[in-house]
Amino acid sequence: MSRLSRLRDEMRVKPGSRVDLSKIDPADDHGWRKDDADAETTQQLARLSDLQDRFWAEAKRSVLVVLQGIDAAGKDGTIRKVIGELNPAGVNIVSFGVPTPEERRHHFLWRVRRAVPGPGYVGVFNRSHYEDVLVARVHRLVPGGVWKRRYGQINNFERALVDDHVTVLKVMLHVSYEEQRRRLLARLDDPTKHWKYNPGDVDERRLWPDYQAAYADALGRCSTDHAPWYVVPADHKWYRNWAVAHLLRETFADLDPRYPSPDFDVEAEKARVKAA
Ligand code: AMP
Ligand code: MG
Repeated sequence: MSRLSRLRDEMRVKPGSRVDLSKIDPADDHGWRKDDADAETTQQLARLSDLQDRFWAEAKRSVLVVLQGIDAAGKDGTIRKVIGELNPAGVNIVSFGVPTPEERRHHFLWRVRRAVPGPGYVGVFNRSHYEDVLVARVHRLVPGGVWKRRYGQINNFERALVDDHVTVLKVMLHVSYEEQRRRLLARLDDPTKHWKYNPGDVDERRLWPDYQAAYADALGRCSTDHAPWYVVPADHKWYRNWAVAHLLRETFADLDPRYPSPDFDVEAEKARVKAA
């Protein structure tokens, strides 16, 4: 247990720190072997699923999982393999793509506010408001003064969420340049994955250093005590699943959700059901 807690602390970006992603090994596995990690992941997910059942029944608070990572970092795979174990009735997955003309007319947080999960729900953002300090910065979609102000706006927004009983879990899937190459090529080699490939991904890949710098700033400036960022080494999919399952399970365990007590007399109801 203490070993697991240490790993959780290790993945957390210290608030106010300067992040150097080149110092974090994307292929890190903390000495786990795949088989052991997979077995542990299964256990974590079973416990997580039990906790989420209570959380859903309790219907008081929300959890927002923010998933960020470059193309082919494994956002979709994480949703399938980890989030997929939850009761789907209580899960709300929202993907953020290029803003629509209507979205562009509003403040960048407008579409994000509308997607915040309600009580009892686990919201998952597949990309998020962070794109507005990542792609928007790298492609100079807005002037520098605008994206620089957004870090503070994001921190205030997330502060308000936490005050509203939304626990914010932010996960950056950290893959290497080499691994992204392998995954993009694998997509091209497999006709069933062509739909996932976008020729524009190569153009983004060419901007790798700019994205790494933009990610480092977003992680450093927006990892707060109330809404910390976690960097998950994601070159090994099994390790990524293990790490995210673990982060989620710990988050729900801290919330300690409880089944609500019935507002009726159970014995009396039993008698009524039998008699009816
Ligand atoms: P995908 O996640 O592969 O479906 O791609 C979604 C695309 O939408 C990515 O290229 C993102 O960079 C882009 N995107 C998401 N949010 C924004 C945003 N706020 N501004 C511009 N592009 C965005
Ligand atoms: Mg894509």
